[in-house]
Amino acid sequence: MSSVPVAVVTGSNKGIGLAIVRDLCKQFQGDVYLTARDPGRGQEAVAKLQQEGLRALFHQLDIDDLQSIRALRDFLKEKYGGLNVLVNNAGIAFKVQDKTPFAVQAEVTLKTNFFGTKNVCTELLPLMKPYGRVVNVSSMVSCSALGRCSPELQQKFRSDTITEEELVQLMNKFVEDTRKGVHDKEGWPNTAYGVSKIGVTVLSRIQARLLNQNRKGEHILLNACCPGWVRTDMAGPQATKSPEEGAETPVYLALLPSDADAPHGQFVSEKTVRPW
Ligand code: NAP
Repeated sequence: MSSVPVAVVTGSNKGIGLAIVRDLCKQFQGDVYLTARDPGRGQEAVAKLQQEGLRALFHQLDIDDLQSIRALRDFLKEKYGGLNVLVNNAGIAFKVQDKTPFAVQAEVTLKTNFFGTKNVCTELLPLMKPYGRVVNVSSMVSCSALGRCSPELQQKFRSDTITEEELVQLMNKFVEDTRKGVHDKEGWPNTAYGVSKIGVTVLSRIQARLLNQNRKGEHILLNACCPGWVRTDMAGPQATKSPEEGAETPVYLALLPSDADAPHGQFVSEKTVRPW
């Protein structure tokens, strides 16, 4: 078994994820895994980094596929005996002009952004080594979408005692409410992406709390963040930041020094803790 520290970035064949891997290759003392659902696209990105003189390793990972997540988990367990840095970056967003029915957008978006991310956490968080760092890439849109939820929903999402099971129920309820055409009446905002990212931010708050309760003394820090508005296939060419600039906050959180005890369980943008 290798004692080399290891970092994993999900959805890192392009965009912000690739920029995070690039930075980690330069700054992280250990093996860095670029992961992608499509091995061809993943290997291509690894080759691109190699041309830049950087050494990333590749492992397949489709966060929609539990078998794929578990294959990565088993690989990490066997080869490294755990994991030091996990960046949950993979995500999807329908374009504004997309005509796909809202209920389908809700189901598909929640499946990857919330349920996929949650499944990766369920399988990989138990592997985190002491002083591990976990970064869940959410979005400022989670904050604006929260503000457009009903007061009852806002209270639930801001609660310091909400459980993962309750959060899962709420995310499922959103999808169900869009299917029945009652999501407006039930107090949800009109954004599937926004609700999925509320899920990611609240999940991060819950997971940090659980780490405090169950693994105190292991110094693991877990946060949600927004990379900013970044020029990628998702956000388009008008966005204000380059992928390298978008990687700055996630990489800052992934490389928090071993003597840091904060931030933890926070929503962070521009390397600054934001109110939730
Ligand atoms: P992007 O260029 O579209 O890249 C998304 C990445 O996620 C791709 O590598 C994609 O792989 C991967 N992915 C999607 N579904 C996946 C799955 N089921 N399993 C594994 N990988 C999957 O988007 P981006 O702008 O870099 O976004 C990265 C993250 O930042 C996302 O979580 C996004 O919500 C968040 N974010 C972005 C912005 C922005 O302005 N760009 C702002 C706030 C937050 P494929 O190539 O196979 O599709």
